[in-house]
Amino acid sequence: MFDVIIIGAGLSGAVLAERFASQQNKKILLIERRRHVAGNCYDEVDENGILIHKYGPHLFHTDFEDVWKYLSQFTEWDVYQHRVCAMIDGQPVPIPFNFNTIQKVFPKNLADRLENALLQSFDYGQKVPILELKKSADEDLRFLADYVYEKVFLHYTEKQWGQTPDQIAGAVTARVPIYIGRDDRYFNDRFQAVPKKGYTALVKNMLTHKNIKLLLNTDFHEAVGFHGREMYLFGQKFMGRIIYTGQLDEFFRNKFGSLPYRSLEMKFETVDAEHFQESATVNYPNNYDFTRITEFKNIHPTKSPRTTILREYPQNYVAGINLPYYPVFNDEAKEAYEKYSAEIAKYARIKPVGRLAEYRYYDMDDVVKRALEVYSEMSS
Ligand code: UDP
Repeated sequence: MFDVIIIGAGLSGAVLAERFASQQNKKILLIERRRHVAGNCYDEVDENGILIHKYGPHLFHTDFEDVWKYLSQFTEWDVYQHRVCAMIDGQPVPIPFNFNTIQKVFPKNLADRLENALLQSFDYGQKVPILELKKSADEDLRFLADYVYEKVFLHYTEKQWGQTPDQIAGAVTARVPIYIGRDDRYFNDRFQAVPKKGYTALVKNMLTHKNIKLLLNTDFHEAVGFHGREMYLFGQKFMGRIIYTGQLDEFFRNKFGSLPYRSLEMKFETVDAEHFQESATVNYPNNYDFTRITEFKNIHPTKSPRTTILREYPQNYVAGINLPYYPVFNDEAKEAYEKYSAEIAKYARIKPVGRLAEYRYYDMDDVVKRALEVYSEMSS
């Protein structure tokens, strides 16, 4: 009855369901544990009439033209350039740390000297990871690096990851580099926008094909069973393929132990004022238990007398208690993941895809890119 079972109706699952249904006329069973589609980019209009991102701020940005074109079939966009400030010594300053930030936090003479020092060592427009800047031979640059490390990265990262920037993979802090120039935007990608009617509407549009049967509120273990390498759907032998987008440890009922993730507690609050803050997101590297506050009205402009804000409180992930937002990139975790990865590779008809199943810090565009790639691989 079904050709492909897809587990998880987040972005990876939606792209693959849509492709197999629309391009190959395959019959798809899409199984989702939650009561809704769109995974962690799920959004909904709240009691203040504001479109909020239930699982934290999701800002679409990409340099992949194919990804942009692909998604544009399912949504119109509102052009949106994300801007973030970090609260440093009581003052909001633009992040990524750039020349404007330097001018805001240092006296003019020193700021000009630091700008010059940066331009001696780097190209205009270059992005320099903090850990790289710290290795600089130039004394002024090392002073700047120590300042940014202490004020922006150290305490934020300790909160977010429970570790210092030096303890986690360099690629994580490199996501928010020092920017050599005056561009205040959080991302520099060619395409930056939010779906006009939100991510949930976008994903729902992807899943309208008549060949896609969606099963919400269903843990895949309730529907899919294994006996050796044989697969069963509701007790019937299943000869098709399975695309799995959940956690690999859960797939194998944790037989090699749990994979570590970082989680967040999302605390939404209605503020009885038209506006709360100037930028969409303000990071609080220091002094508070939360890492950042997002005001959704600044992402999806809405006229309303109140405003909705979100504070994110990082936590350890505990299965059944909170959600696995971020894979943790230490050697032990990688080793555990490799074990699971080798195990699932033994199943020729099962393909793990996406941020959870591949244990990668994918952004939304990476997820779509990867799902399109997997679709091509599976079609050849
Ligand atoms: N980061 C930081 N201070 C900041 C912003 C980011 O230390 O003000 C570090 C932190 O380790 C964080 C990482 O950079 O986890 C990536 O930040 P990003 O904003 O990309 O995280 P996401 O939006 O994916 O949670």
